[in-house]
Amino acid sequence: MADHTEGLSPLATGIKGRCPRCGEGHLFKGFLTVAEGCEICGLDFSFADSGDGPAVLIMFPVGTIVIVGWLITDALFGWPAIAQLFIWLPMTLILSLLLLRPFKGVMINLQYKTGARPGGGPGEREDL
Ligand SMILES: [Zn+2]
Repeated sequence: MADHTEGLSPLATGIKGRCPRCGEGHLFKGFLTVAEGCEICGLDFSFADSGDGPAVLIMFPVGTIVIVGWLITDALFGWPAIAQLFIWLPMTLILSLLLLRPFKGVMINLQYKTGARPGGGPGEREDL
Protein backbone atom coordinates (compact mmCIF):
# COMPACT_ATOMS: atom_id res chain seq x y z
CA MET A 1 0.00 0.00 0.00
CA ALA A 2 1.25 3.47 -0.83
CA ASP A 3 2.70 5.55 1.96
CA HIS A 4 0.64 8.71 2.23
CA THR A 5 1.86 10.13 5.50
CA GLU A 6 2.70 13.56 4.09
CA GLY A 7 -0.70 15.01 4.86
CA LEU A 8 -0.97 13.46 8.31
CA SER A 9 0.22 15.27 11.40
CA PRO A 10 1.92 12.89 13.84
CA LEU A 11 0.58 15.11 16.61
CA ALA A 12 -3.04 14.81 15.48
CA THR A 13 -2.93 11.08 14.72
CA GLY A 14 -0.91 10.37 17.87
CA ILE A 15 -3.28 12.19 20.22
CA LYS A 16 -6.19 10.26 18.71
CA GLY A 17 -4.25 6.98 18.97
CA ARG A 18 -4.40 6.30 15.23
CA CYS A 19 -2.12 4.56 12.77
CA PRO A 20 0.80 6.76 11.64
CA ARG A 21 0.48 5.67 8.00
CA CYS A 22 -3.25 5.85 7.27
CA GLY A 23 -4.50 7.87 10.26
CA GLU A 24 -7.55 5.63 10.57
CA GLY A 25 -6.57 2.33 12.17
CA HIS A 26 -6.26 1.99 15.92
CA LEU A 27 -2.72 2.16 17.33
CA PHE A 28 -3.68 0.63 20.70
CA LYS A 29 -5.52 -2.58 21.48
CA GLY A 30 -5.80 -1.78 25.19
CA PHE A 31 -5.14 1.30 27.27
CA LEU A 32 -1.42 1.38 26.53
CA THR A 33 -0.79 -1.88 24.68
CA VAL A 34 0.25 -1.28 21.09
CA ALA A 35 -1.69 -3.36 18.56
CA GLU A 36 0.22 -5.81 16.37
CA GLY A 37 -0.73 -3.94 13.22
CA CYS A 38 -3.17 -1.55 11.61
CA GLU A 39 -6.54 -3.09 10.79
CA ILE A 40 -7.01 -0.64 7.89
CA CYS A 41 -3.68 -0.43 6.02
CA GLY A 42 -1.87 -3.42 7.52
CA LEU A 43 1.15 -1.48 8.83
CA ASP A 44 3.14 -3.68 11.22
CA PHE A 45 3.55 -1.86 14.54
CA SER A 46 6.51 -3.97 15.64
CA PHE A 47 8.77 -0.92 15.08
CA ALA A 48 6.96 0.93 17.87
CA ASP A 49 9.07 1.39 20.97
CA SER A 50 8.45 4.62 22.82
CA GLY A 51 10.44 3.43 25.83
CA ASP A 52 10.30 5.78 28.81
CA GLY A 53 9.75 8.83 26.61
CA PRO A 54 6.07 9.49 27.38
CA ALA A 55 6.53 9.02 31.13
CA VAL A 56 9.46 11.41 31.23
CA LEU A 57 7.64 14.05 29.18
CA ILE A 58 4.54 13.76 31.39
CA MET A 59 6.48 14.23 34.63
CA PHE A 60 7.33 17.82 33.74
CA PRO A 61 3.84 19.27 33.12
CA VAL A 62 2.11 17.13 35.76
CA GLY A 63 4.78 17.90 38.35
CA THR A 64 4.51 21.59 37.59
CA ILE A 65 0.70 21.61 37.81
CA VAL A 66 0.66 19.68 41.08
CA ILE A 67 3.40 21.64 42.82
CA VAL A 68 2.12 25.05 41.68
CA GLY A 69 -1.44 24.01 42.59
CA TRP A 70 -0.28 22.90 46.03
CA LEU A 71 1.58 26.17 46.60
CA ILE A 72 -1.33 28.33 45.43
CA THR A 73 -3.95 26.53 47.53
CA ASP A 74 -1.58 26.60 50.50
CA ALA A 75 -1.03 30.34 50.12
CA LEU A 76 -4.73 31.10 49.57
CA PHE A 77 -6.40 28.73 52.01
CA GLY A 78 -3.67 27.44 54.31
CA TRP A 79 -4.94 23.86 54.15
CA PRO A 80 -3.00 21.32 56.22
CA ALA A 81 -0.57 19.03 54.39
CA ILE A 82 -2.82 15.96 54.79
CA ALA A 83 -5.69 17.79 53.04
CA GLN A 84 -3.35 18.84 50.28
CA LEU A 85 -2.25 15.20 49.83
CA PHE A 86 -5.87 14.07 49.46
CA ILE A 87 -6.26 16.51 46.57
CA TRP A 88 -2.92 16.43 44.80
CA LEU A 89 -2.02 12.73 44.97
CA PRO A 90 -5.18 11.65 43.09
CA MET A 91 -4.72 14.66 40.78
CA THR A 92 -1.22 13.40 39.95
CA LEU A 93 -2.57 9.95 39.12
CA ILE A 94 -5.50 11.26 37.07
CA LEU A 95 -3.43 13.74 35.05
CA SER A 96 -0.73 11.13 34.38
CA LEU A 97 -3.24 8.55 33.17
CA LEU A 98 -5.04 11.10 30.99
CA LEU A 99 -1.81 12.21 29.31
CA LEU A 100 0.03 8.89 29.00
CA ARG A 101 -1.89 7.42 26.07
CA PRO A 102 -1.86 10.56 23.87
CA PHE A 103 1.84 11.13 24.57
CA LYS A 104 2.67 7.52 23.73
CA GLY A 105 0.62 7.80 20.54
CA VAL A 106 2.44 10.95 19.49
CA MET A 107 5.85 9.43 20.20
CA ILE A 108 5.08 6.31 18.16
CA ASN A 109 3.70 8.43 15.32
CA LEU A 110 6.83 10.60 15.40
CA GLN A 111 8.97 7.46 15.49
CA TYR A 112 7.29 6.22 12.33
CA LYS A 113 7.43 9.61 10.60
CA THR A 114 11.12 10.21 11.33
CA GLY A 115 12.28 6.61 11.04
CA ALA A 116 13.78 6.73 14.54
CA ARG A 117 14.82 3.40 16.00
CA PRO A 118 16.23 2.36 19.36
CA GLY A 119 19.97 2.83 19.52
CA GLY A 120 22.25 -0.14 19.80
CA GLY A 121 24.84 -0.77 22.48
CA PRO A 122 28.57 -0.13 22.08
CA GLY A 123 29.91 -1.82 19.00
CA GLU A 124 26.47 -2.52 17.51
CA ARG A 125 26.31 0.56 15.30
CA GLU A 126 27.94 0.20 11.92
CA ASP A 127 27.97 3.91 11.07
CA LEU A 128 30.49 4.88 13.77
ZN1 LIG B 1 -3.04 2.19 9.06
